[in-house]
Amino acid sequence: MVDKADLHVHTTASDGLLKPSEVVLSACKRLSAIAITDHDTVQGLAEARKAGLKYKVSIIPGIELSCFWQGKECHLLGYHVQDNAPGLMSSLKGIKEARKERMEKMISKLRKLGIYLTWQDLPTDGERTIWGRPHLAQVLVEKKIVTSVADAFEKYLGRGRPAYVERKKLTLERAISIIKNAAGVPVIAHPGKSKLIPFLSSFKNMGIEGVEAYHPEHTFAEVKEIVKAAYKLGLFITGGSDFHGIERCGAPFVGFIAVRRDRCFSVQ
Ligand SMILES: [Zn+2]
Ligand SMILES: [Zn+2]
Repeated sequence: MVDKADLHVHTTASDGLLKPSEVVLSACKRLSAIAITDHDTVQGLAEARKAGLKYKVSIIPGIELSCFWQGKECHLLGYHVQDNAPGLMSSLKGIKEARKERMEKMISKLRKLGIYLTWQDLPTDGERTIWGRPHLAQVLVEKKIVTSVADAFEKYLGRGRPAYVERKKLTLERAISIIKNAAGVPVIAHPGKSKLIPFLSSFKNMGIEGVEAYHPEHTFAEVKEIVKAAYKLGLFITGGSDFHGIERCGAPFVGFIAVRRDRCFSVQ
């Protein structure tokens, strides 16, 4: 039997729309494994594991760290992280505090523009401990201050807009070491989407072990280019739907290839 896995899935622990248990339930008919890769948190894993046992889906512990490399934003996936490793826990605590501080600064900038929001306006559903600009944008939509999330970014929250606050930058080097120190496998996320394909060999030299070739926002040509580079560089190839909830991803839970240290998943 061919195992199918989705190696890039978000839950309400970060910015997904489904709770970890709901994600597992909706995956169980089609997939034998999913990796929970929430942004900057491993908070959703406990619930996912419990649901995984119930619905017979293997849960791969993962994370997606937002970081920067040479001024460019990049995302780093970490697979099989030991989510209780003290080093990981303290690093994530620092990231969480920095995110919170950034949100507070944005709320105060909005206040100066005559828009009064409080921390309590932010969604607190599920296991969420991580907030970002999309959550703030959503509140602005709900309060009818803007017409859409895109409008919120355009008017207030996008880079260079009046309520924008620069994020505290985690370097890619540091992100790789956070993953490795938690015994995880660092994989560069969606390099096509992030416009980082030309730099894969630099990433390999920095300790990256794999690359996410299959991603819904990659073109066929990008997938081909990434796969070719991965073979040349000896990086393993992963893929996933970057599922955030049906509303935010039209093609959830497709089977993807992933060659892992301990197990092989095959493309559907
Ligand atoms: Zn990403
Ligand atoms: Zn993602």
